[in-house]
Amino acid sequence: MVYKSDIEIAQSVKPKDIREIAAKLGLSDEDIELYGKYKAKVDYRLLKKGTGKKAKLILVTAINPTPAGEGKTTTTIGVADALSRLGKKAIVAIREPSLGPVFGVKGGAAGGGYSQVIPMEDINLHFTGDIHAITAATNLLAAMIDNHIYQGNELNIDPRRVVWRRAIDMNDRQLRFIVDGLGGKANGMPREDGFDISVASEVMAVFCLAMDIKDLKERLSKIVVAYNMDGAPVTAGDLKAHGAMAALLKDALKPNLVQTLEGTPAFVHGGPFANIAHGCNSVIATKMAMHLADYVVTEAGFGADLGAEKFIDIKCRHAGIKPDAVTIVASIRALKYNGGVPKSELGKENLEALEKGLPNLLKHVENITQVFHLPAVVAINKFPQDTEAELELVKERCRELGVNAVLSEVWGKGGEGGIDLAQELLRLIENNHSESVTFAYDLDMPIKEKIRAIAQKIYGARDVIFTDKASKEISNMEKFGFGKLPVCMAKTQYSLTDDPSKLGRPTDFDITVRDVTVSAGAGFLVALTGDIMKMPGLPKSPAAEKIDVDENGVISGLF
Ligand code: ADP
Ligand code: MG
Repeated sequence: MVYKSDIEIAQSVKPKDIREIAAKLGLSDEDIELYGKYKAKVDYRLLKKGTGKKAKLILVTAINPTPAGEGKTTTTIGVADALSRLGKKAIVAIREPSLGPVFGVKGGAAGGGYSQVIPMEDINLHFTGDIHAITAATNLLAAMIDNHIYQGNELNIDPRRVVWRRAIDMNDRQLRFIVDGLGGKANGMPREDGFDISVASEVMAVFCLAMDIKDLKERLSKIVVAYNMDGAPVTAGDLKAHGAMAALLKDALKPNLVQTLEGTPAFVHGGPFANIAHGCNSVIATKMAMHLADYVVTEAGFGADLGAEKFIDIKCRHAGIKPDAVTIVASIRALKYNGGVPKSELGKENLEALEKGLPNLLKHVENITQVFHLPAVVAINKFPQDTEAELELVKERCRELGVNAVLSEVWGKGGEGGIDLAQELLRLIENNHSESVTFAYDLDMPIKEKIRAIAQKIYGARDVIFTDKASKEISNMEKFGFGKLPVCMAKTQYSLTDDPSKLGRPTDFDITVRDVTVSAGAGFLVALTGDIMKMPGLPKSPAAEKIDVDENGVISGLF
């Protein structure tokens, strides 16, 4: 059987006029700003009006990612389409793609198969310019820091301790470490510097957690950009940069409305990294979605140990929302990979390896149901080679934990393939009368205890080891008044441990925290458990080599 590529499928559907999609949400022409025919931004001031509506929030998360593919975004979109087919007013809320991965290894991030958001070329390439605005705001701040030093350095900034880095939305390892300000006295102060990919910038995290423009500005002003000669933090507010930064971001802050292949409305807005940041779309988009629809389906990046934990402990706690049901996506292939099968042999039935890999899924299920106390369903994202016996085994092991596993065929069939999953989610929501969620830790706990709680409860670690540097930074953070912030764990996404090679459900391991930094604007501490790359590189044959455009402006090669 020959499968069509994602872009071929996407291009085979003519999108509806975005005003028609907006109308489904009760939005008039007054409420939206058109960006061409198929994209619009929605004014966040609409949120202030208040409808008293309380939409149900469905979180899509997954097992630890593997090269075999899991399919969170695809499932998120497919479930929303299935809910629409069931006559529900549903909407998708997901992140917007960065150019780096699009041209690198991962490809696009607009779903796959028959569960995609369109126009996928636009969404993957520039979209409505939000990420460029974030790049500009980040670099404005960088320029103001160096100018401040050049103009006499009234704030006594230690040029060796400027922690703010420049940004570009590209995978460009050449820019990771640079020396700038060369050329003599008239050309700035030489110092070691570097670029991060824009989506790893704190401005992106701030943008995604801001409630409105005022909150955005306040958060931007709190960003720690450097330390002075006495070791005290210097902020963007000290440099009076926050107003201009917010001005650059004012339109970007409005959620982007697009549609799925089946015409379900979708907000695609904001896209922070899921390691040094919290990895989900903007709070404004989620809140707007909850304001306009009855069911909001949203995705958290990476596996549930990082994505769902941060979604709940950071985003939900901050925004005052909570998921009403959670779906944990797994594929038979990915579970077999967790059971030790090499990528080339994932197409063959292998119950033994599946049984070995399953504990990874079961740990994530336990975390959702027994740590966070949320109702959950496992979505088995169907790939063509999955066998009946393999599917049965997954269902049986999940049933033993009191959770249903449902086959999802949204990649191959669109919303039609997600009806069973949507029905199970509706059932869970109907039976869920709890108004609360249990967080993995309290904000009042000492920083080390918060980290320990995440590591032990969520990862299943024995203990946490803090390097001397980490311990020193933790006491500094407490001294500077950052002790009550939530913790954003920067850990490998591939394993429940801090070692990417340990698959499945490892036991008897410790987590080592090497450093702790603060993202004071975003409002969290970042605990680094290893080297986290904030500027990816391109692979030997980048996806960019296959992307092209013809004389009619039709793009090919995106996937
Ligand atoms: P995630 O959000 O978990 O990173 P995506 O939903 O973006 O995953 O899917 C990653 C890739 O895998 C996409 O290219 C998608 O087309 C592909 N994919 C997802 N589900 C399936 C499936 N059931 N069969 C084949 N390919 C799939
Ligand atoms: Mg995704």
